[in-house]
Amino acid sequence: MVVIELKDRQLQILDIIEHHQPISGKSIADKLNLSRSALRSDLSILSMAGLIGAKPKVGYYRQSLSISSSNNPLVSAWIQRVGEVKSRPIVIDENATVYDAIVTLFLEDVGTIFVLSNGHLAGVVSRKDLLKTSIGGADLKSLPIAMIMTRMPNIIFVYPNDSLQDAALKIINHAIDALPVVENCNDEDGNVQYKVVGKISKTNITSQFVELFVNLSGRAYG
Ligand code: ADP
Repeated sequence: MVVIELKDRQLQILDIIEHHQPISGKSIADKLNLSRSALRSDLSILSMAGLIGAKPKVGYYRQSLSISSSNNPLVSAWIQRVGEVKSRPIVIDENATVYDAIVTLFLEDVGTIFVLSNGHLAGVVSRKDLLKTSIGGADLKSLPIAMIMTRMPNIIFVYPNDSLQDAALKIINHAIDALPVVENCNDEDGNVQYKVVGKISKTNITSQFVELFVNLSGRAYG
């Protein structure tokens, strides 16, 4: 089996083509702040690998998923959409107490809970936030979760159309376990708010790689 290792820039190019196809070589170069000639070798590697195609006077486009997946399943797993992989988000209202959040954490068997204000994303609480508060001697049954959460605008999130790669990089770069998957919506005053439609965590990403390995090797894991 031939294994093609793609460089960061090649993955970026794939992502740009995926989002903007058909797109000219010049437009790809502009988006990356590079010259057209600096991209030439990466574009030819990607087209030789069967991951992209080019039509004269139209531009570059992604080859169909079935072709890329049979050619390079790792890349296909890596660029699939967060919306296809996300799991159910566990949420509580900002007026719930820290005690409620701890009970939810156990009942739902999760490590991260998203906090909503009027139904919109307002904060995140993790295991360690709850542990820290618990050992601090606060009255957990009266302390609102809003007092201890990490709050907007500091929440790192993804959209359903972002790639698994985008999510994985955010998780690693910000040293966190999970991201809310959101859609934009407006509140009554016309301000942009975020509706939580899913969760993507280290577990989701690991499962994708387990599934990929099972498919590639034909082995089943119990
Ligand atoms: P744990 O506390 O179990 O190690 P994390 O590493 O996910 O879990 O959380 C570390 C810190 O980052 C916590 O204070 C938490 O509130 C915050 N945090 C967790 N997820 C996010 C996120 N998506 N955006 C911003 N901050 C987050």
